[in-house]
Amino acid sequence: SQKTPQETLYEKDGRYMWHHMKPYQKDQNPMVIESAQDAWITDIEGNSYLDGMSGLWCVNVGYGREEMVAAATEQLRKMPFHPLSNSHVPGIQLAEKLNDWLKGDYRIFFSNSGSEANETAFKIARQYHHQNGEPGRYKFISRYRAYHGNTLGTLAATGQAQRKYRYEPLAPGFIHVHAPDEYRLPSGQSFEEWSLQCAQMMEDTIKWERPETVAGVIMEPIITGGGVLIPHPSYVKEVEKICKKYGLLLINDEVICGFGRTGENFGYQNYGIEPDIVTMAKGITSGYLPLAATAVKQKLYEPFKRKEESDHFRHVNTFGGNPAACKLAIKNLEIMEDEKLVERSKTLGKKIREGIQPLEGHPNVGNIRQKGLLFGIELVADKDTKEPISNNEIGKIIAQCKSRGLIIGKNADTVAGHSNTMTMAPPLSITDEDAAMIVRTVK
Ligand code: PLP
Repeated sequence: SQKTPQETLYEKDGRYMWHHMKPYQKDQNPMVIESAQDAWITDIEGNSYLDGMSGLWCVNVGYGREEMVAAATEQLRKMPFHPLSNSHVPGIQLAEKLNDWLKGDYRIFFSNSGSEANETAFKIARQYHHQNGEPGRYKFISRYRAYHGNTLGTLAATGQAQRKYRYEPLAPGFIHVHAPDEYRLPSGQSFEEWSLQCAQMMEDTIKWERPETVAGVIMEPIITGGGVLIPHPSYVKEVEKICKKYGLLLINDEVICGFGRTGENFGYQNYGIEPDIVTMAKGITSGYLPLAATAVKQKLYEPFKRKEESDHFRHVNTFGGNPAACKLAIKNLEIMEDEKLVERSKTLGKKIREGIQPLEGHPNVGNIRQKGLLFGIELVADKDTKEPISNNEIGKIIAQCKSRGLIIGKNADTVAGHSNTMTMAPPLSITDEDAAMIVRTVK
């Protein structure tokens, strides 16, 4: 019998495609998405879904933005490629704009992905110390539960064992400490007390490692994929203070938190700190084209200016800062400015939060966490013991949402092997009706 075009595609998918991060059993007849508009995606069967995860936490301005397509197309015709060992106009313009968004004094190194942006940060930090008279500083402190990328260095920085253990040995020199979790506190402690204790343990770790061997700390202001852990503001300030005290560089991974996701331009701006290095990707182009950036405080550039041949940053990235991607990114940021999407993220985030807050009364909802349009709903089998619900149960909830037309996510497995936090990060441009649909469906 004749196969339908859809059946043929599923068959070829099964034969030729190797999907990202998918267990084989769940890999049969995947969603094959064919078109998208605003916050909605449509598969080859004609089913439409509200994309409550913005693809992979990235389509911040929503789908179907013709102006972005036009900007990239025009640039592809005019000049599709030139390496950034020289320079090009869209690169210069975007670097200036990113510096404005950062509200600081930064210099920009372009690459293509969040992983590359973080690798670049590690290398810049090490070389900075090397040329600043402290060649022994090579270690980085990072935190359990955070994800920083898929390369051997960024995976070493990642604090999720289940993503790592089959690929070891990874890059040496990454030391992990605990990130405070407002829902799982040692008994008798307030969130602030525990947060400050975690910061203290970070400081102790730096001392045990010997500060003169430590190059920096990498952290997401809010751990995203590891369960949406909103920090206590005192913790973030304290980490910055510790970095300054011991001469460490503070690297902020803004790959998800950047570009309005948390209700500010960048996540760190919620906490009044000034990181030495800021890494970004995803929302920089709203996912339309690959692009990433490592923003570095001007003062860190000084040792790289010296005259010796080898004192420059010996790091090349062929496609990093592709001119069409830069042009598209500029348009993406202009749309966010024109439509005030960063503010919208803050106000609409609060509104959705109010809508789902009553769920905390449900016997299986342990904790709801939110900042801007970034949400984590932690589910438990038992509220008293806080035992996580099973992977199977959370899988059923996600499938239920999907069957009602809403795509949501879940956090990466915890050390105990549980994914127990539902995650949501819809486009910042979603309509009030879309927001109401999210609240209704999740409830
Ligand atoms: N950092 C964070 C916080 C991320 O969530 C991710 C990806 O999800 C990365 C880095 C790596 O980005 P990419 O997948 O673009 O390499």
